[in-house]
Amino acid sequence: MARKAAPVEYLIVAPHPDDAELGMGGTVARLLGAGRRVGVVDLTSGEPTPFGTPARRKRETAAAADVLGLTVRLNLGMKNRELQATLANRRRLAETYRTLRPRVVFVPYWNDAHPDHLAATELAVQARFHAKLTRTDMKGEPHYPPRIVYYYCTHLRMHADVAFVIDVSDAMETKVRAIDCYRSQFYDGRGDQAGAVVEYVRDVNRYWGRQINRAYGEPFAVRETLGVDSPEHIF
Ligand SMILES: [Zn+2]
Repeated sequence: MARKAAPVEYLIVAPHPDDAELGMGGTVARLLGAGRRVGVVDLTSGEPTPFGTPARRKRETAAAADVLGLTVRLNLGMKNRELQATLANRRRLAETYRTLRPRVVFVPYWNDAHPDHLAATELAVQARFHAKLTRTDMKGEPHYPPRIVYYYCTHLRMHADVAFVIDVSDAMETKVRAIDCYRSQFYDGRGDQAGAVVEYVRDVNRYWGRQINRAYGEPFAVRETLGVDSPEHIF
């Protein structure tokens, strides 16, 4: 499937290819299934890893995007393992916001063990403000994404500050199939731990599903107050 940089309603900023799938693959599948325009921007290649190569990770990412039905998936080519919220990186991500013009930007939860993830969060939040600047030679027109929502792809065994949970019961198998595309990350060379991360994700999503009386759920956090149109949408 051809990937392009077309405007979206929802944009997921991911430090590495696979973080979007792990944290909110079910929500992405649901939004796409409902005909919404969704994009993923991976900041780095995610490589090197013990059993991956750049070419292989790229193929795995494309396969996962196809499983989810994503047509907008970009990679900004920032430096894996050394990701930093530099002015140059902020500007590049701001240009992505200005071009794709999302209404909601999903960014990694603010507490994590992985420095790339912490940097990605900082960068994604800073780029939101930077994207609205005028009198600049940045690409695209000024745009301030109205909402930032935090998803959990954290390496810490914690899910504090959950604000709401999205029911992904009908999308869980699609999410797992998308994660399974990353053989180099979750299966190869892992012996009896092959697939353990996928089972962990399933357990976490089952737990959050139980919290809302559904089979599976994905948790999200916010820092700003959210509104709802009607109490009908609360369950
Ligand atoms: Zn990651």
